[in-house]
This record gives sequence, structure tokens and C-alpha cells, in this order.
Amino acid sequence: MTSTERSQDLFARAERVVPGGVNSPVRAFRAVGGTPRFITSARGPYLTDADGNEYVDLVCSWGPMILGHAHPAVVEAVQGAAARGTSYGTPTPGEVELAEEIVARAPVERVRLVNSGTEATMSAIRLARGFTGRAKVVKFAGCYHGHVDSLLAAAGSGVATLALPDTPGVTGATTADTIVLPYNDVAAVELAFAEYGHEIACVITEAVPCNMGVVPPLEHFNELLKSLCERNGALLVIDEVLTGFRASASGWYGIEGVAGDLVTFGKVMGGGLPAAAFGGRADVMDRLAPSGPVYQAGTLSGNPLATAAGLATLRNATPEVYAAIDRAAGIVSAAASEALTAAGVPHHVQRAGNLFSVFFADGPVRTFEEAQHQDSRAYAAFFQAALERGVYLPPSAYEVWFLSAAHDDAALDRILAVLPDAARAAAAAV
Ligand SMILES: *Cc1c(COP(=O)(O)O)cnc(C)c1O
Repeated sequence: MTSTERSQDLFARAERVVPGGVNSPVRAFRAVGGTPRFITSARGPYLTDADGNEYVDLVCSWGPMILGHAHPAVVEAVQGAAARGTSYGTPTPGEVELAEEIVARAPVERVRLVNSGTEATMSAIRLARGFTGRAKVVKFAGCYHGHVDSLLAAAGSGVATLALPDTPGVTGATTADTIVLPYNDVAAVELAFAEYGHEIACVITEAVPCNMGVVPPLEHFNELLKSLCERNGALLVIDEVLTGFRASASGWYGIEGVAGDLVTFGKVMGGGLPAAAFGGRADVMDRLAPSGPVYQAGTLSGNPLATAAGLATLRNATPEVYAAIDRAAGIVSAAASEALTAAGVPHHVQRAGNLFSVFFADGPVRTFEEAQHQDSRAYAAFFQAALERGVYLPPSAYEVWFLSAAHDDAALDRILAVLPDAARAAAAAV
């Protein structure tokens, strides 16, 4: 590998003017060490950094780039939209088309476009509270729903006790209405409903938790959440920000078929630009302003560039695209496991459709607590060895390995070629 001098210079400059040198924490490489690479361009499955190094990309902007980078149809759509003006502060045809596209694929009757997944979950929770007239929100430990204050909460001392703030700056008052439960624990959810049934506005869950590594829901878990919510007059909010339009054309819903009363979307639906959405039952969504009393708004919501990128991405996400991602996920996950086994590194691959992650621990992992038993030093060594050899893995052991339809055999071969060396590096660090 050639030098990383320019990335190091840029990072030093960034640290002077941006906290930690990055605009989102995981980009800083704190979990794996070393200097983050400053990327200057990307095409298909490849990233190029400021020093001219090329990498096969297994982050894909943390999910959105299912067609690969700089897909010609997306580039053309964004260029065309930009030439017509970047924002008007009025309704636009593109918003209607994107909303129709989402309603056609996902189990929602109405959608409201926003700018980030965080905004989507924050607004969905406000709406659930406004609709039910109740305050409490149930979330699961290890599920990430963006940096919404009330969801940055950790479990209290016992099951179904009130949550504690997870970060300075979030007050106890804000998390007092949040109940944090262990994932995949039906008894804990039943207990929470037994205790607080009439106060619970909603249960929010990732369709498949992907932000503690991939932790598939146990059979019928999502279905059970749905029926418990129904019986208790609460809403089920299914967060498909990561899985939506990636796991299948209709997201995880296309695989498991459990519909939330509200569903959140992001990542893929913006095609790499800031766009997200929340949607659901018409009677719930119509409680939103201006048709209802629950306030929600956004100067750049439904932005013409973002809707153009999202529409171009969804319209080009053909069955062949999903088949290619499924196939690539199968090949890479099997090869990673094989290389780690050969090197004698304890690991466990978990898969949910085309979403997978590699836990550097003896599996299986069903909860956040189990996910934390990883050997993060072994992962860091694995990550660095792959990076040096031109493969860009997620800079944290708790992430999905993201693939795209652009990961062709040439790109996959480059990944497979470095896995044995990376596995040996991990073995040396165990
Ligand atoms: C990424 C993510 C979010 C937050 O989306 P942002 O656009 O980063 O605010 C919310 N929920 C899930 C499941 C995510 O993966």
C-alpha cells in the first residue's frame, strides 16, 4: 500500500476545526486505531482516497449505495435536478413520485419525507405519543434509532424499570418515559406491558437489529410485538432505516411480512443524499400537521436533489440487483468464516437475508449483552490488515458488512484474496 500522508494531513487539519476530526463518530477509527482515510471519489464497488489508494468498499456509506457508487442513472438524475434549482420550499413532483414508490413497496398508506433517519424515528415517536395520548416508549438495548434524545437511553437496574440517559446532555426527565428491554426477550416485553400497559405509546424496534452487529429476531418475535401492541392499544414502530429497500425491494417486511403501525425509512431511499421518511396507517399519519394537530416540519424535507437520487436508486433496484447483493453476501460471509476458521480465530457469522456481520466471539448472539463479548482487538487487527491490502471494512466490530450490486466477481475476488492474511493478523492479536 502506498502512503496515507494526505489523509493524515487532512485529519490533523480536521481535528483543529471539527470535534474529533469527523462529523459522525464511527468515522474516526477510534475502535480500530489509525487515521481515517479521506475519500475523494468512488465508483462502483471502489473508493479512492486522497493519497490515490483504492479500496473495495464494504461500508457503502453505511448502507445507501445498493447500486454501487456513482451509478450513471443516479448521477444523471442528480445533475438534472441540480440544473433545475436545488430547493424551492414548495411541493414538487419528485416528492409525490418518491412517496408513491415507497407506498407501493412498503406496508404504509401515507409517508412524510424528512432528512435523516434520526428525524424519522423522532417524528414517528412524537406521532405515536400524539395519536395514543400516552407517554412511554419501549426500546431494545442494542437497537439504534439515530441520536434521538429519548432513545439514547440504557437499561435501568431491572427489567421494565425506567431508563437512564446514555450520554451527557440527555436529561433523566427525557429518558424517564423510555423503557429499555433486552432484545429477543418476549417475557420482558410481556412484563413491561403488564406493568405499564396503559401508558405505553409505542414499541420501537429495528426490523432486524443491525447496529450491534446483525442480530436476527427470534422466530415470531416481531409478530409477538405486533400482537402485544395491538392488545394494549400501543403502536408498533418498525425501524427500517437500514433494512428498508436493502434486505429486499420492500425491506425486511418483504421477507418477514410483519407490518408496523408506523415504519421508518432512510439510507437506501436517499440514494446517498439526505432523505428519510416515516409512514404508516392512514388514520395515524393523518394526525400529522397540517391534516392533524401533531406538529412536524422541515425546510429541506423532500429536497429535489435527494428525491431525484432516491427515485433513481429505487427504480434501478431491480430483482437482479437484490439477487446480486444476496449472492455477494453469501460469498463474502462464507469466505470470511472459512478464513477465520483456518486461522483458528473464534467467530460467529450472523445473517438475516443479505445482511450479515462477523462477531469475533463464539456465537450465537441474541442480545446486546452477548454482542459485547467480542474480541475487539482481534477485529481491529483484522480490519487493519484488510485496509492495508485494499479492502475497506466497517471501522467497528459492531457493524454490517455492506455490499452492493456493483460488487462483481473482480471486486469479490479482491476481497477473498485478502481474507486469509487478515484472519492470520487477527489470530496473532487474539
Ligand atoms: C442509520 C440508522 C438510523 C439513523 O439514521 P441517520 O440518517 O443516521 O440519522 C436510525 N435507525 C437505524 C436502524 C439506522 O440504521
